[in-house]
Amino acid sequence: MNSKHRSLKDLIFDNRFLNELPADPETGNFPRQVTGACYSKVNPTPVRAPQLVSYAKEVAERLDLDRESCKSDQFKQVFSGNEQLDGMQPYAQCYGGHQFGNWAGQLGDGRAINLGEVLNNKGEHWTLQLKGAGLTPYSRTADGLAVLRSSVREFLCSEAMFHLGVPTTRALSLILTGEEVVRDMFYDGRPKTEPGAVVCRVAPSFTRFGHFEIFAAQGNLDLLKQFVDFTIRNDFPHLGKPCKETYLKWFTEVCEKTAEMIVHWQRVGFVHGVMNTDNMSILGLTIDYGPYGWLEDYNPGWTPNTTDATNRRYRYGQQPQIAHWNLGQLANAIYPLIEEVEPLQEALKHYEQYFNQHWLETVARKLGLTNYRTGLDDDLFNELFLIMQLVETDMTIFFRKLAQVDCLDQSLNQATDDQLIKPLIDAYYDPENMMDSFKARTSNWIRNYIKRVREDGSDVQTRREMMDSVNPKYVFRNYLAQLAIDKAEEGDFSMVNELLELFRRPYDEHPDQEHYAVKRPDWARQRAGCSMLSCSS
Ligand code: AMP
Ligand code: MG
Repeated sequence: MNSKHRSLKDLIFDNRFLNELPADPETGNFPRQVTGACYSKVNPTPVRAPQLVSYAKEVAERLDLDRESCKSDQFKQVFSGNEQLDGMQPYAQCYGGHQFGNWAGQLGDGRAINLGEVLNNKGEHWTLQLKGAGLTPYSRTADGLAVLRSSVREFLCSEAMFHLGVPTTRALSLILTGEEVVRDMFYDGRPKTEPGAVVCRVAPSFTRFGHFEIFAAQGNLDLLKQFVDFTIRNDFPHLGKPCKETYLKWFTEVCEKTAEMIVHWQRVGFVHGVMNTDNMSILGLTIDYGPYGWLEDYNPGWTPNTTDATNRRYRYGQQPQIAHWNLGQLANAIYPLIEEVEPLQEALKHYEQYFNQHWLETVARKLGLTNYRTGLDDDLFNELFLIMQLVETDMTIFFRKLAQVDCLDQSLNQATDDQLIKPLIDAYYDPENMMDSFKARTSNWIRNYIKRVREDGSDVQTRREMMDSVNPKYVFRNYLAQLAIDKAEEGDFSMVNELLELFRRPYDEHPDQEHYAVKRPDWARQRAGCSMLSCSS
């Protein structure tokens, strides 16, 4: 055992959020409006029979926690909320948010309870947060709990995202509580009992845009300033001493980090599903895995969230604009500290340029091109995303297959339309019924692509490696989540653990795991939980 590893009792806590920010003086656990405070102290609700489903070893490592500890009885007691370690000081945070475009007032950690901040050997702080650990003062009319279904989804997806290179909160553990939780999954009057579960999430901080919004909405500028200063000091220490100039640098950096996160989402085909401002992390981390989904056929209009079916506000193709809108709400919230509209607007404009530049460079890499040529490549890129929408095309498979095409092979110069499309055929959901006009347009694109690759000049191997390092082979396909959940609900955790392992290296081929890289099967097309999800979790 490496000496840097610690057992549970040796973890060191340094709870800055709790020590440096004002607490709600009320300590009773009942729903209320909280003013003048950033959090309320509250203990997790004990559970009957905690059972470990899975834990992420890399996350344990980040905390310096040794492997044996993760398998201990104490681990499942602590991370289900039954036991507290020395140094833990549980609390729920107060925040607000815009939900589906409307100010929703106070929200807060309604079912998340922070245990404290682990200080690891590298001097990093990692906040531990239990999701589904019972009622808090912010639970409003809900129960503070989470079910196994949504917890499997959060646990596996956040880890998968991390290994895909997407900024995200992490997950240490997934534990069944032994409690039953009632959920009306589609709000249609058919409630069902489901197994309860708790995920321990881990992040440098869980600060959301909504934190700043609530203090601004309450007109509490002292607290707003205190919270901004706290955030800069702890989450953005490189920005230096808080002052007006620093606030602007900070906001600009939040814009950039948010843009980078969205570029990654678009790159891998992740649709968050509920991009409310309370679900936007100030660190640009993907946070709050609810009714998210993964693009199967490339469709910018798709959202997995049935609660958003009418307006599809949070559809794949609109995520970049929604992030911009959300940043606008954050700008409004911090305006009183800056009192100048123009520089905030500049930063918002910068978001758009920064996003576009990074996105186009990312598309170039997805296509194996060494750079994006401003203006010159736009037709090639735009046409690609248009033809991918003409027939159902699996985005993930498409890019992996495209990497296999040897563009330098001179025999391609005489290839027919069918011959050019053949290497990509696995990406199509209905290859038998492709119209000739579609084939002609697609092969025309392929010919232009081949020409562009040849101009670019990189060799076959280099191009392939570049493509395979940004186009994952394995993503958390919606139907895979459902299969893992079905098994887990029967007490079989093997698929959860198998996927966790596979998703540690999503860009590798894994020839023995090909069955996890296949298109959505027909049974999953309309099945609840696969292509349709609600906020009920
Ligand atoms: P979400 O849409 O999941 O981001 O949740 C919005 C708000 O509802 C947050 O304040 C959550 O803490 C709260 N919330 C969601 N589900 C529950 C639940 N089962 N019990 C208590 N609060 C919840
Ligand atoms: Mg949320």
